[in-house]
Amino acid sequence: MTYFQFIAGAETAASDGGTYDILNPADTGRLGTAPQATRKDTRQAIAAAADAFPGWAATDPWKRSAILRRAAAEVASRSAEIATAITRESGKPLAQARGEVTQTVELFDWCADEARRVYGRIVPGRSAATQHQILYEPVGVVAAFTAWNFPVLLMSRKIAPALAAGCSIVCRPADEAPGGALIVAQCLRDAGVPRGVVNVLTGLPQDISEEVMADPRVRKISFTGSIPVGRMLARAAADTLKRVTLELGGHAPVIVHEDVDAAWAARQSATGKFRNAGQVCASPTRFLVHESCFDAYVQAFVAEAEGLTLGDGMNDATDMGPLINMKRLQAVEELIRDARERSATIATGGRRSTRFQGGYYYEPTVIVDAPEDARVMQEEPFGPIALINRFTDVEDGIRRANQTEFGLAAYVLTGSLERAQRTAAGLEAGVVGVNSFVASAAETPFGGVKQSGYGREGGPGALDDYLSTKYVNLSF
Ligand code: NAD
Repeated sequence: MTYFQFIAGAETAASDGGTYDILNPADTGRLGTAPQATRKDTRQAIAAAADAFPGWAATDPWKRSAILRRAAAEVASRSAEIATAITRESGKPLAQARGEVTQTVELFDWCADEARRVYGRIVPGRSAATQHQILYEPVGVVAAFTAWNFPVLLMSRKIAPALAAGCSIVCRPADEAPGGALIVAQCLRDAGVPRGVVNVLTGLPQDISEEVMADPRVRKISFTGSIPVGRMLARAAADTLKRVTLELGGHAPVIVHEDVDAAWAARQSATGKFRNAGQVCASPTRFLVHESCFDAYVQAFVAEAEGLTLGDGMNDATDMGPLINMKRLQAVEELIRDARERSATIATGGRRSTRFQGGYYYEPTVIVDAPEDARVMQEEPFGPIALINRFTDVEDGIRRANQTEFGLAAYVLTGSLERAQRTAAGLEAGVVGVNSFVASAAETPFGGVKQSGYGREGGPGALDDYLSTKYVNLSF
């Protein structure tokens, strides 16, 4: 594909002509070269967004809504192209990439509705001659940075609510996988979004980020990525007091109660775990299984893992693709090495796949009885690693589940409503799935607690993070 930057409605190269290569993780082949945005490009994108903001903010909500609805239709009409870009750049199986595009379409559609539902409130005054109006206004220019694992959905989770609220935006999709987000930018243009309202920069983040964070015209940032980078951005945001939304890492526990069918539970768990090769912030990772069904569950889980077909995501038969790059592959290897040293049992996997010539393939891995102090029990593996440990009673399960700094997603498998309620109430997480590994949808709020960040994306409050409250005291 041809890569470009999208500034003030124009598809441009970098101002100094700089480029970088985009690689296919399935075979390390070069997919193309993309512009490496300069500081000057970044300032131009911010200026374009700042110029476009007043007009877009003043556009009536019904019109903004209609444009976003058309954008949803444009994205749907180009879904095959977008899904192909996602798979080739990120390695995930095509069926999962198609699912990502569907979720993106639904998100634009949902935010098109929400654009018309920014209700104010009237608080009664203390006399007939006063009225207190509470109004919500767009915060201004927003900047967004996102990870590569859902390269289109994560960026759209920022663009759609920002535009619905009346904000303009400067985005920097992950350098590994900008293709889908660039097509979405074209869709927005074709749907009638005025020039400058959406700007997309490509390339390594350092210069872009420094310019964005220092610029007082940028009133808010929204970031999806790791905890260390999130912390750094929160610190940098303090200087110009930008509003901040942080969607950070996870290390999701799964509590498997004694009343479930072990084979069913293992099948659901493995499907959730190995989606996108485990490179999902809400990926189920620490499986805490009641001691009474532990052995049957482990046996079934290992069988599921060993039954998966690894390969290039473009092949229909592929269940699990490669990891994104060598850095990720080495990080996973390091966690496994540490777990081995601490006497954890590697029930299956635990090594690179030798079946491929190039590409970053790692075998689906199941680790049993890893000690609490193993690094993999505390650090987000972001790879195809399932950790299975046992618990004795509900309190013990909840205590173990909450034993990390993360608080994004958590899951419970049980047939008992009482156990489901009790466990969900005790879990420190922004999202809890009961008998379901679906953690996010357009109509539900997604986000973390503890070190997994703050702010929510999607759901009835999808626009909240993009709105400022204004109080007007009306005295007649
Ligand atoms: P990362 O934090 O290293 O990078 C995330 C993105 O931020 C990348 O595109 C990177 O280039 C960019 N980035 C790096 N430094 C930056 C800076 N100074 N300013 C602006 N952007 C910068 O994380 P990663 O390893 O690439 O991604 C995986 C992480 O993302 C995991 O921790 C995962 O859990 C998290 N994630 C969270 C969610 C969520 O919604 N909570 C969703 C997907 C991924």
